[in-house]
Amino acid sequence: MSRYSIFSLARNAISHHENWQRAWRSPTPKKRYDAIIVGGGGHGLASAYYMAKEHGLRNIAVLEKGWIGGGNTGRNTTIVRSNYLWDEAAQLYEKSMKLWEGLSQDLNYNVMFSQRGVYNLGHTLQDMRDIQRRVNANRLNGVDGEVVDAVELSKRIPHLNCSPDSRYPVLGASFQPRGGTARHDAVAWGFARAADALGVDIIQNCEVTGFRRENGEIQGVETSQGYIESPKVGVVTAGSSSVLADLAGLRLPIESHPLQAFVSEPIKPVLDTVVMSNAVHGYISQSDKGDLVVGAGIDSYNGYGQRGSFTTIEHTMAAIMELFPIFSRVRMNRQWGGIVDTCPDACPIISKTDIKGLYFNCGWGTGGFKATPGSGWVLAHTMANDQAHQLNAAFSLDRFISGALIDEHGAAGVAH
Ligand SMILES: Cc1cc2nc3c(=O)[nH]c(=O)nc-3n(C[C@H](O)[C@H](O)[C@H](O)COP(=O)(O)OP(=O)(O)OC[C@H]3O[C@@H](n4cnc5c(N)ncnc54)[C@H](O)[C@@H]3O)c2cc1C
Repeated sequence: MSRYSIFSLARNAISHHENWQRAWRSPTPKKRYDAIIVGGGGHGLASAYYMAKEHGLRNIAVLEKGWIGGGNTGRNTTIVRSNYLWDEAAQLYEKSMKLWEGLSQDLNYNVMFSQRGVYNLGHTLQDMRDIQRRVNANRLNGVDGEVVDAVELSKRIPHLNCSPDSRYPVLGASFQPRGGTARHDAVAWGFARAADALGVDIIQNCEVTGFRRENGEIQGVETSQGYIESPKVGVVTAGSSSVLADLAGLRLPIESHPLQAFVSEPIKPVLDTVVMSNAVHGYISQSDKGDLVVGAGIDSYNGYGQRGSFTTIEHTMAAIMELFPIFSRVRMNRQWGGIVDTCPDACPIISKTDIKGLYFNCGWGTGGFKATPGSGWVLAHTMANDQAHQLNAAFSLDRFISGALIDEHGAAGVAH
């Protein structure tokens, strides 16, 4: 560390960070932009960043109704993997994985990407056959993966309950070594700072309340800060996507559900990987601070409340106790929920619409954090060229008319 940095650190420590340079500006909206992104989550910020960086569009705004990263981006359990079954999905998530692998350098911001590996447990013979099939399919797509049996698992994860006497005995797992976690807030902040540096206006507390269109073409958006004109609008609002679609006079095949997560009090390092189980419906990792980060399946009812029900909390805790009896005396500190936008085939929509210049990127359901860079990268291409990239061509709205669905329920499962 240079002498200058040490002095600067000391000065800022004494001044309570008052003199820290802001990481992004807080501009008032212009009257017109060449492109607007609605939603300042990770996907929206990444879309704006790649539009500016890869396609040279600089007159862009991201409009966020609250604060950036305050939606699912700041509420998720940060699991990153790319081991999806079908070619289309595996290639899209693998594109994202490759972007993750260089993201801290690209953004010059440490997103704390940690490739600690992800295990998806199998509890029945059918689970194990599905795991074998998925690992084979992954390898054909250049995605890393291996099948691990219960004996090997109990060596690698000593605290995992691999007893044949448990309610759902663990028979083995798929393992993706390049999978892992990233720091969710840092991802939003890193993309925001890098997009801002390329001239993107990030406007918080700016809710989009309507769309103006003429002759089938988008003209701009009504917002809580006034009307803003733009020939291209990308809607990237996750759990609120159907609300925004309704404002534009469209219907999306999406249901919004609460999805919950929990963190424990911090404890010493005890779990150095990510463990997920579709059968018992829970998954767990340990954060760098020491908290156990626990995730659930969706709450089954539809809703926009960012909370969820006690039944799911109880069910998930029982699942984690079954997998890791050693954690039975750890106290949980916090619980929260987000609103996830689920599609019938557990795959996203990254698509043009019937309104020229209006695009939707949504339907990531319980598992979109892992796709943040890739999702932004393909939406940027789609908006800049008014044409899908080959990586997202299959994820258009047309598939709900043609029936060419890409069923990823198996790989999504309890998801994440
Ligand atoms: C509890 C939980 C755990 C999860 N765990 C994982 C995981 O481990 N791994 C994984 O891959 N995925 C996970 N996910 C899913 C993942 O979080 C999401 O798929 C992803 O973060 C979606 O990103 P986004 O940027 O599209 O959405 P968001 O971050 O939700 O951003 C959308 C933004 O749009 C804004 N908005 C909404 N309406 C308007 C409007 N009218 N005007 C302006 N702005 C508006 C919202 O305020 C919000 O900030 C989890 C989700 C939850 C809730």
